[in-house]
Amino acid sequence: MRLILMGPPGVGKGTQAKKLAAVYEIPQISTGDILREAIVNDTPVGREAKEYMDAGRLVPDDVILNLMKETLGSEKCARGFILDGFPRTVPQATGLDAILVTLGIRLDAVLVLEVNEDIIVERLSNRRSCPECGAIYNLKTSPPAQDDTCDNCGAELVQRSDDQPETIKNRLKVYREETAPVIDYYAKKGMAKAIDASGSVSEVWEKLQSALSQK
Ligand code: AMP
Repeated sequence: MRLILMGPPGVGKGTQAKKLAAVYEIPQISTGDILREAIVNDTPVGREAKEYMDAGRLVPDDVILNLMKETLGSEKCARGFILDGFPRTVPQATGLDAILVTLGIRLDAVLVLEVNEDIIVERLSNRRSCPECGAIYNLKTSPPAQDDTCDNCGAELVQRSDDQPETIKNRLKVYREETAPVIDYYAKKGMAKAIDASGSVSEVWEKLQSALSQK
């Protein structure tokens, strides 16, 4: 199974991608996670990406496409993958098409999670994540059992530096201007499937599964 999971920041892509990855036994490929890891490891890509990410801007397409060429061609993606946070611009989508042709593979579906912006700002402001195991919490709807501590591994939860109100606004603007056209790109190919993501994690999960079963 080769999927793209699209939607604005905070819509719940990461949470749903983790569930899909567990059920279909394929890796979740999150460009945001790869970049955050590169920053922690202080690699050249991490150093270049950091200033864009802190400002809520997109990292340049060539940096992202080089990362993805390497990742999608690697052994861990041989049985399939879920792309979470990529492609985010039309040039990234056409670049992905070229990578898929080179690898001789095709996408099975492009799922687009949709929700209004008020809900997004609320979700992002309450989002906390575990820097050790990647678990994601929402302080209101899915809080950890103990304040600020990961239920899975006990690490101290953090708020992402780009989940501050001003940066959130900028990320949503970037989404409307640069990423929304990617949905049209896949809609024109007849591949985009919209999913209402305003409900709870389990309600959205039901809808995702039913969209996949109708494929
Ligand atoms: P995310 O974790 O998907 O919300 O991504 C966090 C940040 O990483 C974004 O605001 C961008 O600065 C950067 N980023 C992640 N994926 C991409 C991408 N496909 N293209 C450009 N920048 C990206």
